[in-house]
Amino acid sequence: MPLIDTHAHLNFQAFETDREEVIQRTLVSGKDNFEPLEAVVNVGANLDSSRKALQMAKENKKIFASVGVHPHHASQLYSGWLKEIESLALQPKVVALGEIGLDLHQYSSGIGDLEKQKEIFLTQVEVAKKIKKPVIFHCRNAWPDLLDILDYLKNPPKGVFHCFSGTRGQAKFLVESGFYLSFTGNITYKSAGNLREAVKEVPLERLMVETDCPYLPPEPFRGLRNEPLYVKIVASQIAEIKGLPLATVVDATTENARKLFKLD
Ligand SMILES: [Zn+2]
Ligand SMILES: [Zn+2]
Repeated sequence: MPLIDTHAHLNFQAFETDREEVIQRTLVSGKDNFEPLEAVVNVGANLDSSRKALQMAKENKKIFASVGVHPHHASQLYSGWLKEIESLALQPKVVALGEIGLDLHQYSSGIGDLEKQKEIFLTQVEVAKKIKKPVIFHCRNAWPDLLDILDYLKNPPKGVFHCFSGTRGQAKFLVESGFYLSFTGNITYKSAGNLREAVKEVPLERLMVETDCPYLPPEPFRGLRNEPLYVKIVASQIAEIKGLPLATVVDATTENARKLFKLD
């Protein structure tokens, strides 16, 4: 069974000059010892990149889209943004709302922005619930606030915490709450012992893999632009941590992605 990159940004500027070549090797030819993938989910972070994700999904059967406004873009929205997100999200090739959530990394501009982040996060969560699509959650340095919101929601939508960066305890809590957890190339970094501990906490049936490309290239590609084929390195690292054959991790994560995003 081939891998799925459940969180890529081929819709971003970083792929502007060679996007078609990258798509070709990702989904058709592969490269070196990287076999072609079954599918890619391109994720939007604002209105522009969400529109682009949808356009790419319409052009290629194996590309899917997620649409949403990332917390970093919370303060740059035009008045009709929510209506547009909802209409994009209703398109058949759009498989999720996201990436949405809270991000207090490099956060220095005061509590007003956090309130704004919470507001746009919650309004998009409501859209996901209304149209019955899952959420791709983004959370960085904001775990207490985000977990408070989930608690307050009582009946949160289904979804995946992408690029999981919390503690082993938080991973356990999210698994018990019914969520999927997705890991990126940063689990290969020397300093990421805590993330490798968190991987141990996530059972196979709740695991997903992603690249978050162009960001977070796994070793030995650190410092270069990341791309979807390298999701294999993430799966291999997880297999090593769990002491399982790579094929077992590939099969499970692909099956989970198909199921959550209804890819068939
Ligand atoms: Zn993210
Ligand atoms: Zn992302």
